[in-house]
Amino acid sequence: MDYQKILNTIDEELSYRDVSGKVASYIPELAKIDPRKFGMHVFCGDNQHFSFGDSDELFSVQSIAKVFSLSMAMRIMGEDLWDRVDVEPSGDAFNSLSQLEYENGIPRNPFINAGALIIADILVDQLENPEQELLDFVRKITQDNSINFDPKITASEKETGYRNIALVNYMKALGNIKCDVEPVVDFYFHLCSLAMSCKQLAQAFMLYANKGKILGTEEQVLTPVTVKRINSLMQTCGFYDEAGEFSFEVGLPGKSGVGGGIVAIHPEQYSVAVWSPILNEQGNSSLGMKALKRLTSLTGVSVF
Ligand code: GLN
Repeated sequence: MDYQKILNTIDEELSYRDVSGKVASYIPELAKIDPRKFGMHVFCGDNQHFSFGDSDELFSVQSIAKVFSLSMAMRIMGEDLWDRVDVEPSGDAFNSLSQLEYENGIPRNPFINAGALIIADILVDQLENPEQELLDFVRKITQDNSINFDPKITASEKETGYRNIALVNYMKALGNIKCDVEPVVDFYFHLCSLAMSCKQLAQAFMLYANKGKILGTEEQVLTPVTVKRINSLMQTCGFYDEAGEFSFEVGLPGKSGVGGGIVAIHPEQYSVAVWSPILNEQGNSSLGMKALKRLTSLTGVSVF
């Protein structure tokens, strides 16, 4: 498969850089990003990689990082995790509070904000220094010690994170948050403010394409069963109320973030990350969705 040729075609086809939509503005720092940024990076199992555009530039990965925190929580809790969070698509917006009351504070899945906040509660409860251990995990699976949080984004999230703070308070009232509210939201805001490039994301996500083994070192950091569960959650819940559309149009497990990044994997073949900050109404990158749709059309293979 000539991935570079396929990526060049996608770059040419979509290079009009449609800037008519909006970048996320409810986190003020995200509103400052140049909407014309566009990059894509593919990593393959043999460590070959291919790219175009702004694929080396750091951006705020936002909810993509929920895959990393979920991986850490599954290593600690195993299957007991599912007593605290469900595994069903929500059909609601990523920051919705609406299904919590009649479900006793058990979020529908670990990728909506409510679910990721339960995962944050678990990590804050179980780890001595959760922020550092998160960085250690991400640096290890990416094989890149330069990865860090963007402190401006963390601060901006804190200033405007009323809904996330409300979600933790609400779930605490319903009995599903163990720790104090503040360290839980603080960890969550750090998680969302991880800064990574498409190249680093694609490299990190080879873990999920490679049955839990780090690309290059082949160290097994997640069990194949854990990876199977995470990939199926990405397939059914990775795009919130657009998960069906992504599955329909692209046909790969993936995860989006409101920074405009999307990662997707093809088990045992490749992982791909794309970045374009303009979002559609569901909070997913518009151009990123189009680029991934073209990728699975041009390669002729998806998981289906
Ligand atoms: N930090 C964002 C929030 O909590 C993450 C949302 C996302 O990327 N979907 O609102």
